[in-house]
Amino acid sequence: MALFERDQHIYRDRDALREDYQPEELVGRDEELQTFQAALQPVINGEQPNNIFIYGKTGVGKTAATRYLLSHLKQDAAQYDDLDLSVVFLNCDGLTSSYQIATHLVNELRSETNQISTTGYPLASVYEMLWNELDDRTGTVLIVLDEIDHVQDDSILYQLPRARANGNLERAKVGLIGISNDFSFRDDLSPKVKSSLCEQEIHFPAYNATNLRAILQQRSQVAFHEGVLSSEVIPLCAAYGAKDAGDARQSIDLLMKAGDLAREEGADLVVEDHVKNGRRSLERGRIKEGIMGLTEHGHLVLYALLTLDLEGETPIRSRDVRPRYTRFAEMANRDPLVPRRMRDHLSELAMLGIISVTERNEGRRGGTYREYALDMDVNLILSAMDETVELVGVHESLSEYIDPSDSAESAPSDSFSFSDSISSSDSLSPDA
Ligand code: ADP
Ligand code: MG
Repeated sequence: MALFERDQHIYRDRDALREDYQPEELVGRDEELQTFQAALQPVINGEQPNNIFIYGKTGVGKTAATRYLLSHLKQDAAQYDDLDLSVVFLNCDGLTSSYQIATHLVNELRSETNQISTTGYPLASVYEMLWNELDDRTGTVLIVLDEIDHVQDDSILYQLPRARANGNLERAKVGLIGISNDFSFRDDLSPKVKSSLCEQEIHFPAYNATNLRAILQQRSQVAFHEGVLSSEVIPLCAAYGAKDAGDARQSIDLLMKAGDLAREEGADLVVEDHVKNGRRSLERGRIKEGIMGLTEHGHLVLYALLTLDLEGETPIRSRDVRPRYTRFAEMANRDPLVPRRMRDHLSELAMLGIISVTERNEGRRGGTYREYALDMDVNLILSAMDETVELVGVHESLSEYIDPSDSAESAPSDSFSFSDSISSSDSLSPDA
């Protein structure tokens, strides 16, 4: 019997739900697409292109819309013999400086055999190479810098739009399309960059549930076999998506997770429970990732709050978390942070949705203060914090969550306690 057999009953084409899939048509972005298309019209006319700035949160279709319009633009430009259009698409994730962008652009424009090293040249000579490559194209060159908010300095955003005005280009007509997921990026640009880059600005708003339903509907027709999604699945994915961030990527991921769960179970239909469980599982993944990305002090603060929560002490004020945090920091051999910095960690945890925060009034005196509580499953938090728990020791409030026999040669389970482990040894390991 074959060990591997192809499953075919849920998905028609699961890859259509992946990040790299480009939908043939976009749904529900008519207004933005129309503005965007109008901004690109000069290209077809053979005129100097506009510089365009696209912004909006992640997952609202900025990249998809750009790819969609540019592929049509290239196709439609081909019918004009006097039009020579090149498009360079660069995602700036992982590129932090104008220097890096410029070297990558040079390489995009050059042939495989003629690439330059991405380090070692003076910036001015990289720009020189860039102007040469661009001018060799003679026609129109559209440069798309996606996720442009990763770039720390704005030199390239100034140089590219003005290359012609500054006499660096003679033949090529260059247009820059910048795409940003970050709202503050635009505001932080220097005025001279803003005025050239943001000639045409297009904002992509978050999607609502109706938009997301249409997007999921369209995508599911490619991805799933007919009739395998029960009727509540798409509305539910869309409702969650709208509630979370209006992010189409997140909703598509949820639909895929639901499909995967159904497939793993060998179910014939994807149903509401698959969506709910899928959401929980994705959420857990995100939270776990969030916790793992925290600093050591973030972990110590969270560990302190976790144990206080298990002891029924929450909601709790920052100043009452402090003694436990300080003790944990000392047990881990770290200098405790000052109260203010410790509170910053609480705020960060709240922002990540790991803990909850409630604003309270002081009474007639009128001041306000904040109270914190845990908002997450204990096991989930623990699963992302083994190092901290190991460093500090297993607190007694965790005895039912952490089986001491899991950690090698530990004390017998019922007599095991946190305070014992401190008093019995200099070492901070509970196992000592
Ligand atoms: P952004 O670049 O704004 O972060 P993307 O363009 O990557 O967002 O969109 C996220 C995902 O949602 C992609 O898979 C994309 O194909 C899909 N998507 C977004 N908007 C639409 C839309 N209007 N119609 C169809 N699919 C869409
Ligand atoms: Mg994008």
